[in-house]
Amino acid sequence: MLENIQTILSEIETFNSDKAEKIEEFRIKHLSKKGSIASLFENFRNVPVEQKKAVGQALNELKTVALAKINELKEKLTDTENASENGAIDLTLPGVPLKLGSRHPLSLVRNEILGIFERLGFTISEGPEIEDDWHNFSALNFPEEHPARDMQDTFFLSKNPDIVLHTHTSSVQVRDMETQKLPIRLVTPGRVFRNEAISARAHCIFHQIEALYIDKDVSFADLKQTLTYFAKEFFGSETKIRLRPSFFPFTEPSAEMDVTCSLCKGEGCNVCKGTGWLEILGCGMVHPNVLELNGIDKTMNTGFALGMGIERITMLKYGIKDLRLFFENDIRFLEQFIA
Ligand SMILES: [Zn+2]
Repeated sequence: MLENIQTILSEIETFNSDKAEKIEEFRIKHLSKKGSIASLFENFRNVPVEQKKAVGQALNELKTVALAKINELKEKLTDTENASENGAIDLTLPGVPLKLGSRHPLSLVRNEILGIFERLGFTISEGPEIEDDWHNFSALNFPEEHPARDMQDTFFLSKNPDIVLHTHTSSVQVRDMETQKLPIRLVTPGRVFRNEAISARAHCIFHQIEALYIDKDVSFADLKQTLTYFAKEFFGSETKIRLRPSFFPFTEPSAEMDVTCSLCKGEGCNVCKGTGWLEILGCGMVHPNVLELNGIDKTMNTGFALGMGIERITMLKYGIKDLRLFFENDIRFLEQFIA
């Protein structure tokens, strides 16, 4: 019986054909109900007990090999059929479209904001993410004891000399004030870093856009007009703004800008917490100390600066509730934003 199995096994292993009918013949010969393998299984009960184990194993192996052979030959057959049906490829068939990706929501909003400032004559400027103390703090009028200079708030790459991951894109503006001639009219987008616990409302990485305008006779009225233009362009022509006094080391006077809630049109809803207003950005007139520290004549020139977090504005625009979604690269989230 073992010899018999061996003969059929080598016959199966050497068989080859690319004709459908030959393959079917082969299947009937060996694998049908009356085929060679079935009859071997039938004779199995006559095998002496001491040989049953060896014969059983050989029989099972034979069946596996035969099934694999049939599958392999059939697969080859379909492949060749597909490739050369009627002897040629049909060139009139429409192509398979390539799936296009979508832009990240933060990129969409950043580009929209930059576009608004570019129309006002601002040029885009970018700078390093790793900064020294001077560009990130000192040149911006941060006092020695300011909490941002603490390890609790800022990522330090080294101490003495202090090297940090920049905590705002204002550091880029310092580099611009060092190198550029007046008038300066710049908008600086960038990724910034703060030592914060990650939650739905805070992250250690986020994105900012800041604008800086320095020239002779730049006034608070210029700032307010720029803010009004930006708010109406971005949030809609009905949008109103209001300014609340605030404090930043690098501007004096400083203000926070709110816009009327575009969801409830100022009536009050849960997004604006019933106030009808949404806090959007910080701004102010460039502090004379900052002008002086950066070699600009403070008796002749004035300037304004403003800065906003792109994440916050994107969350308001699209109704996104969790900040962490921006950084998780979940395709189900990202593919919802088509430009
Ligand atoms: Zn509202």
